[in-house]
Amino acid sequence: MLAVVGRPNVGKSTLVNRILGRRAAVVEDVPGVTRDRVAYDANWSGRRFTLVDTGGWEPDARGLAGRVSAQAQRALATADAVLFVVDATVGATDADEAVARVLHRSGRPVVLAANKVDDQRLESDTAALWGLGLGEPYPVSALHGRGSGDLLDAVLAALPEAPPERFDEEDGPRRVALVGRPNVGKSSMLNRLAGEERALVHDVAGTTRDPVDELVTVGGEQWLFIDTAGLRRRVGQSSGAEYYSSLRTAAAIEAAEVAIVLLDAGETLTEQDQRVVQMVVDAGRALVLAFNKWDLLDEDRRLTLEKEISRDLARVAWAPRVNVSALTGRATDRLAPALHTSLDSWGTRIPTGRLNQWLGEVVAATPPPPRGGKIPKVLFATQAGVRPPRFVVFATAFLEPGYRRFLERRLREDFGFVGTPLEISIRVRE
Ligand code: GDP
Ligand code: GDP
Repeated sequence: MLAVVGRPNVGKSTLVNRILGRRAAVVEDVPGVTRDRVAYDANWSGRRFTLVDTGGWEPDARGLAGRVSAQAQRALATADAVLFVVDATVGATDADEAVARVLHRSGRPVVLAANKVDDQRLESDTAALWGLGLGEPYPVSALHGRGSGDLLDAVLAALPEAPPERFDEEDGPRRVALVGRPNVGKSSMLNRLAGEERALVHDVAGTTRDPVDELVTVGGEQWLFIDTAGLRRRVGQSSGAEYYSSLRTAAAIEAAEVAIVLLDAGETLTEQDQRVVQMVVDAGRALVLAFNKWDLLDEDRRLTLEKEISRDLARVAWAPRVNVSALTGRATDRLAPALHTSLDSWGTRIPTGRLNQWLGEVVAATPPPPRGGKIPKVLFATQAGVRPPRFVVFATAFLEPGYRRFLERRLREDFGFVGTPLEISIRVRE
């Protein structure tokens, strides 16, 4: 997805029409005109991409620079790359510079179009736009078509080769582990979800994994819940029981693709809760946090719970959260979308070109701290695998764990990865 941004009147609509090969679409001469954001399918050199014209000028009190950078920010939320249009005959204005800063911070690939370069004499105006710090400005005339081929070649180079690849689903239902410490409400939740549509798996042809698994319809879809027999069996309080139940939990997580960790929202989070969460992360499975017994919560508990979450579950701040009640059925319809979100992230692959463009910009803005007086060079990265996404970063020297965490944080900020652990390893190359 390519977002076209720029202040009013620089020629965005004209350029969009030029790219789409249309002449007669709406081009408005009046600055400040409100247009809705419109997406088009574009095609250049046989490659298709989606182009979003980010019009939408609402006059407001923040001034033009604020408006334009807010627009750029919105566009960035969904864009793979940005086409930033500047009027070369005017040069870089304050608003242009505000946008440039937003774009720069975002780490998204940016192609800078220096528009209204209608003939060669104006090309010298283009060079001044290097000062925006966004790389080479491409001189174009949206009106006459001059330079638009080179610009579009640059756009294609900036866009990912293909849309981010999603994990190809194996045939059959996705595998879910419903886990949590004793008494959080696992078997109640299972009963709530399964309702009457319960089918032990050994009765269903082709889905046999283990007779203790169960097909459950959640959100209109079938999911294979792993080791439901373990949930239904009431475990006694004898010593050793906990040991076996934790082995069983580990095995269920291992066999699953995604785990719902059920927590008792009515009670203080415990170390045991954290251990179960950590088991999911260590196993590299997708994660959904479900806070059960929400029906019991009053305002006071809600506040202390938020504090406990930010203290004890900060490591998995990326996991989707649903607040549910097995007793009343509250919000259980939000479980299926959360499971899908986490599973999608778990199987996401970032194309190498895009990953390295991102890495180059992130490292340029924030280089790793020096080691032995020298700043290690970050060379490139590849995504070695999915489920969960695993990245290998090549550098000239070891990068500190703090810097690895920084890269993970930026990866999450820029690419999402809601609900999946990420692995980042560093390889040193001379
Ligand atoms: P937007 O507000 O950024 O979408 O800008 P428009 O596409 O509506 O264009 C604003 C004005 O600039 C219109 O009068 C266009 O005809 C004019 N314009 C757009 N591109 C060019 C160009 O390449 N050369 C010249 N000379 N004028 C242009
Ligand atoms: P498990 O050990 O995790 O399988 O937990 P259970 O399903 O056996 O539930 C433990 C206790 O919590 C039982 O007394 C349930 O009735 C109660 N319980 C489960 N879910 C809820 C809920 O959403 N709200 C309330 N108030 N109680 C619940």
